[in-house]
Amino acid sequence: MNVRTRVAPSPTGDPHVGTAYVALINYCFAKHHGGEFLLRIEDTDQVRSTRESEAAILDSLHWLGLSWDEGPDVGGPHGPYRQSERSAIYQTYVQQLLDAGHAFKCFCTSERLDAMRVAQRASGQPSRYDGLCLTYSPSEIAWRETAGEPFVVRMKVPSDGVCVVDDLRRGAIEIEWKSVDMQVLMKSDGLPTYHLANVVDDHLMEITHVMRGEEWVSSAPKHVLLYRYFGWEMPKLIHLPLLRNPDKSKLSKRKNPTGILFYQAMGYLPGALLNFLGLLANSAGEGEDEMMTLAQMVERFGVEHIPLGGPVFDVAKLDWLNGRYLREGLDRDGFMAAVRAWAFAPERLARVAELAQPRIERLSDLGGLLAFFFSGRLPLNADTLRGGKLDDLAMRQAFALALAELDALREWRVAGIEAVLKRIADALGKKFRDVARPFYIAITGSPTSVPLYDSMELLGRDIVRERLRGALELLGAPSKREQDEWKRLIPASAEGVTE
Ligand code: GLU
Repeated sequence: MNVRTRVAPSPTGDPHVGTAYVALINYCFAKHHGGEFLLRIEDTDQVRSTRESEAAILDSLHWLGLSWDEGPDVGGPHGPYRQSERSAIYQTYVQQLLDAGHAFKCFCTSERLDAMRVAQRASGQPSRYDGLCLTYSPSEIAWRETAGEPFVVRMKVPSDGVCVVDDLRRGAIEIEWKSVDMQVLMKSDGLPTYHLANVVDDHLMEITHVMRGEEWVSSAPKHVLLYRYFGWEMPKLIHLPLLRNPDKSKLSKRKNPTGILFYQAMGYLPGALLNFLGLLANSAGEGEDEMMTLAQMVERFGVEHIPLGGPVFDVAKLDWLNGRYLREGLDRDGFMAAVRAWAFAPERLARVAELAQPRIERLSDLGGLLAFFFSGRLPLNADTLRGGKLDDLAMRQAFALALAELDALREWRVAGIEAVLKRIADALGKKFRDVARPFYIAITGSPTSVPLYDSMELLGRDIVRERLRGALELLGAPSKREQDEWKRLIPASAEGVTE
């Protein structure tokens, strides 16, 4: 069998280390078996998907040293590899399911569905479509359609019995059908949902092994059923463990940086980060060196070594490994190239210099003024943040609101960043100048520096988030109650939330 695997990210935010982890495992498995690895963009969520996010995901996976045999950027015989360009394909397959009676049109309004869910919750039943539209006669359905009533297409799902999902690593997983919803396959705008597009594409792209995060286990019965309805052979499934924080909670950017771009900006070497992720998939054997190239990871890869418990994304370990890469993995020229690529790329340097030029008297002022551009976290303490017009509470509110609002920005550009900070000053009823001061300190290390928004744009969202998070923690991280209360201070922004 020619092994074919894929990674199928949704371009709805910054590239996540979890995506790189899944991509690496799929890559290693395919290459270990002499097969192909694909990249497919799952942008069925038109509201949250952006081309900017897609480009960042592709760039960061390339930066890590991964490449794919087929994908939106390199093409291939099974394209297009972007789901938004495959609508016509999904229409055909939905029609096939409707014709065979495996799917049905559902005219229920969102008000009715909400009321149904509330009632189900109140009586302790699992939340599941109640099947009202399944009772309609063909003439009633035709009448509703002619009247122009919007509808979605749902799949039929049995109510009794158990679905057995075979997982190559975990064995048979049993899930009761009654806990599986009659999934919407096509939305009222004619676009598919993840489940339909994913199954159709995996089949048409001849994927043999689907290796994805364990958060998808509960969706597997829907996919098993779709393969059965279409009469297609199901790819082998392997559900991968979710990466964890050291306290074993799910890795989340609220506790730890999760963006690949953060690790890039902090000056981790791509090979070291990839190696680190590889060790979380297949740990090194007794006496084996943990420093491994991608080729070595491919060679020793085995599904049986994938841990079932959550592998811990331990930054201290990454630091140790990265240190070895810097010291042992690079010769003089290689090191120079790494330094240049990290923060001294000509375009970045040009913008940084431009910010400094009007503000210096000697070139030797540059070091002090610009050091924050070439650092990760800044050595601050609570007292450095104090001394302006805002008290601790107002500063904590401003930082907490900024973290949420900046995360929700679709584009990381000066204009959007500025608007967020202005909105926060308004919400807190403070002068903008007074609110800006602690941000200057948190981001640049000083109350006066080069322009703040440009600096934030240049530093990138991940480093900014980390510095603001650090500043907030110095003053006291907000409790859940405070967070909820503070959120109400600011009108909901027009931007969607990214995680
Ligand atoms: N688009 C899904 C995600 O981003 C892919 C899940 C899968 O691999 O099937 O997680």
